[in-house]
Amino acid sequence: MPDEPTSFLIAGCGVSGRGAARLASFLHYDYALVDEKDSPELRDFVRSLEHPPKQVCFGWKPGDPLPSAGQAVLSPGIRGTSPLYQALKNAVPRLAGELDFALKHLPCPFVGVTGTNGKTTVTELTAALLNASGLRTQAAGNIGDSLSDAVIRALRREIDCVVVEISSFQLETMDIPHPAAAVLLNLASDHMDRYDSPEAYAAVKFKLLRGMGSGCILNHELRGIARRYLNPRVPRLTFSTTRKTAFYSMRGDFFCRDGKELFAASPLPLKGRHNQENILAALGLLESVRGVDALRSPAVYQALLDFRPAAHRQELFLEKDGVRYVDDSKATNPHAVNAALTAVPSNSKVILILGGQDKEMDFNELLPYLRHVKLALCVGQAAGRIFDVVRGSVTARLCGSFEEAVGQACRAARRGDTVLLSPACASFDMFRGYAERGEVFQRLVRENLEGRK
Ligand code: ADP
Repeated sequence: MPDEPTSFLIAGCGVSGRGAARLASFLHYDYALVDEKDSPELRDFVRSLEHPPKQVCFGWKPGDPLPSAGQAVLSPGIRGTSPLYQALKNAVPRLAGELDFALKHLPCPFVGVTGTNGKTTVTELTAALLNASGLRTQAAGNIGDSLSDAVIRALRREIDCVVVEISSFQLETMDIPHPAAAVLLNLASDHMDRYDSPEAYAAVKFKLLRGMGSGCILNHELRGIARRYLNPRVPRLTFSTTRKTAFYSMRGDFFCRDGKELFAASPLPLKGRHNQENILAALGLLESVRGVDALRSPAVYQALLDFRPAAHRQELFLEKDGVRYVDDSKATNPHAVNAALTAVPSNSKVILILGGQDKEMDFNELLPYLRHVKLALCVGQAAGRIFDVVRGSVTARLCGSFEEAVGQACRAARRGDTVLLSPACASFDMFRGYAERGEVFQRLVRENLEGRK
């Protein structure tokens, strides 16, 4: 084993990098910071660190020297193709992601969540259920706090468990992790601009489960493909809303474990088949960490009743004149759009706004789900490709701007219809992120309806 590094260069000072810096400061490490940006706010952040870095290098440009260190800690935003990454590779003996850096110091068990869709929902739900079962748990990773910040809380003995949302980008560079429990929720076309093939993407996602002895939760649909990536001796508990042979399954309105009913789905605020899958997955994680009795705990059931999904995920934000307006801006791939179309009441016709930044995904995946779509409005960088795919199945129009698409959607809506923003694409061609896209959508809908009065 090579010696453990004693000095660190934290590269990137966004949410994860700042977390890593706080952890390095908390541990009184010898560390430095580098970022291509510079701002008074970053300088303020450095001043807030109790044990300061030995050097900061903000506004870094190719050719600038880097502070010396035994290991670089990379933020997920730093791409392998970027000049900073290349410079770090040449200058620092070891590179690790922020998650690996944080996990090395984590004094308590962690639960890992990955998949194409549902990560945030399942991460937050699992943390809520574990808390309800009496285990002090924090959700971390891509949501809210960085994992490094959760590690500080665990070292201070404020929490006993962390649930970590892990993206494929983070898994790419991670060592094989050893979670107490972990789930692979689903696998569908996404980020095809970044991976050579769907197999390459799948191999990265399965990495989360490869080091596990127990506590491995898997979507029933992935049993076959799992044989390619997982040791056959590792037991896997599967979940499914459609297959009764799955360990966690649905029978009518009931969530079941090993064929036995646990509780009903209809009183819960998480709606739709995709959310039933998310609940089954979270129950699997809960049982793996807390044992089977936790599944029947009244406090856990109350947590399910109290749970609300985060904003911009099939968010029904307005119902007016019999029209439902749904913001699903977080749907950045076709699989998520299909979940949204499946969740629309079967008697409602859909006006669907699609398009945004192209991740080279296969939009043909949408075709079997367009039955209730009466109008597809295509916008953004991927508009042309989507339009070419869907125009044979539904009435489709190309729109020159997001404003135009929302305006057309509002004008076309009739009583009983659903206006759905579920773009199947990233937002960065027109917005700073999915949250801004969703907020602009909600504002434009309200303005269009006001203007009509
Ligand atoms: P992620 O963190 O993986 O992006 P989110 O929970 O934020 O997942 O949800 C992202 C999008 O995927 C939303 O549009 C949501 O409605 C949809 N979604 C959530 N869970 C699932 C699922 N199990 N299957 C398909 N789509 C889902």
